[in-house]
Amino acid sequence: MEHSIESYMLPYVKITRKITISCDTFGGFTRQIDVNAFNTKDEIIKHILDALRIKLVENDLHVLIEKLDKTREIYHIHDYNFDYILTNDQEYYVCNHNCQDT
Ligand SMILES: [Zn+2]
Repeated sequence: MEHSIESYMLPYVKITRKITISCDTFGGFTRQIDVNAFNTKDEIIKHILDALRIKLVENDLHVLIEKLDKTREIYHIHDYNFDYILTNDQEYYVCNHNCQDT
């Protein structure tokens, strides 16, 4: 892969987006996340679920930890693809309902 000198000198740009969990148990948990640090929507979702899990562990919320671990693979951000999230500054919801991930 070739890189020009110019591309090496490009400064890293943070792209901060408000990511909020939307589900019956953890709804409202929100973080400002630098989405430019990730390459896919799944990585963003993993990041916020990990942040949530850390808080649950800190507070000994064992039943909730178990619930999160059982359901974490169904969390998704629908309606928007990763490129849209990078270029549009708005709040994005991570949901775990049985809806179609588009
Ligand atoms: Zn959904």
